[in-house]
Amino acid sequence: MKKDVILTIKSKFVNKYKSGYPLISKEAFINLNEATEEGTIIRLVDEKNKFIAKGYCGKQNKGYGWVLSRNENEQIDQRFFVNKLRAAIHVREPFFNSLDTNAFRIVNGEGDGLGGLTIEYFAGYYLINWYSKGIYHFREYIINALKELVEFKAIYQKKRFDVSGKYIDEDDFVAGERGTFPIIVKENGVNIAVYLNEGAMVGVFLDQRDVRKRIRDAYAEKKKVLNTFSYTGAFSVFAALGGAVKTTSVDLANRSLNKTIEQFSLNGLDYASQDIIVEDVFNYFKYAVKKQLTFDMVILDPPSFARSKRIVFSAEKDYKNLMKEAIAITEDEGIIVASTNSSSFNMAKFKSFIDQAFREANRKYQLVEEFSLPKDFKIIKEFPEGSYLKVLFIKKLS
Ligand code: SAH
Repeated sequence: MKKDVILTIKSKFVNKYKSGYPLISKEAFINLNEATEEGTIIRLVDEKNKFIAKGYCGKQNKGYGWVLSRNENEQIDQRFFVNKLRAAIHVREPFFNSLDTNAFRIVNGEGDGLGGLTIEYFAGYYLINWYSKGIYHFREYIINALKELVEFKAIYQKKRFDVSGKYIDEDDFVAGERGTFPIIVKENGVNIAVYLNEGAMVGVFLDQRDVRKRIRDAYAEKKKVLNTFSYTGAFSVFAALGGAVKTTSVDLANRSLNKTIEQFSLNGLDYASQDIIVEDVFNYFKYAVKKQLTFDMVILDPPSFARSKRIVFSAEKDYKNLMKEAIAITEDEGIIVASTNSSSFNMAKFKSFIDQAFREANRKYQLVEEFSLPKDFKIIKEFPEGSYLKVLFIKKLS
């Protein structure tokens, strides 16, 4: 057993940690030592050596580790993880009972008291994401806890260890019986192909579930829809099912063509009547302006950070300009769905980018609705940074 490490919280941060802040971040400690080993149990104390919380060392881009317990006598053992997972699963009962959705998150990191760890459910399969070596250190406990609490076809995992959260490519099978991929999951009655053993991304981002449904149920009918950064085309499929006259999906990655064809086909839609374009979005915008193409709905869902051949895109620096490109090809009274998963700015700042873009384009707009993370991506009020998803439905006024 490694010895616990004692970290002393600077006095001005003590109240923050006392009132539930979960992230062990550098600036808050007097004696934080880079050499502490991953997975070590850390006791947080005030300057009078009084116990405040305990957590573990697990270095991520976000910080140095996470608080696990505020009870001095609680051991971080098998039972601890069983209790945490049981509580997390309990909160997702409504999802387990759903008849038309069988893909959702059952553990959302610090939102469920387990920073650095997420677990998702896909039609009988479980996918564990380890965000640091530190949390991976507890893998036996966590995998055993999962095995004890749920029935499963198989468990898969993604190691996202290095400080930038990059995925380590290897066989991701953990336990059970290997699946034959894709498995077909359902989301609000729509079929989605999921691959649990093909790299970091599995085919769908579950956090956009409510947004996809809203587009299908309330916006898409009779609309010409442009879906940028479309990946497997999930937004396009929901729009088409909602009665869009046509969807155009644009993504730089070669894989997006086949994956998008697959998603349309799985839902009985003729992909040949949709446009699926493998191209840099920024080139596509230029092309659309030149050809005077316009859309009734434009969906923007860029990664927080992306490097393509020509350019480096950072949501924080470049969202305003991306928005201006979208404004230029959106019909009057049309809708722009602007989404970002960047945790480096909050909703207020995001709205300011949108406002600035419309000002510079000399156009008026109306905010119609906004979305953040769905219920299964549980967050806690003590850590608002955990609420990274921001989606705005914006009407371009004539
Ligand atoms: N909107 C998608 C998820 C987007 S993931 C969904 O709802 O499922 C981000 C995608 O952006 C990736 O598929 C990546 O290939 C693509 N991408 C990154 N930079 C791009 C660029 N400059 N032009 C087009 N696509 C890009």
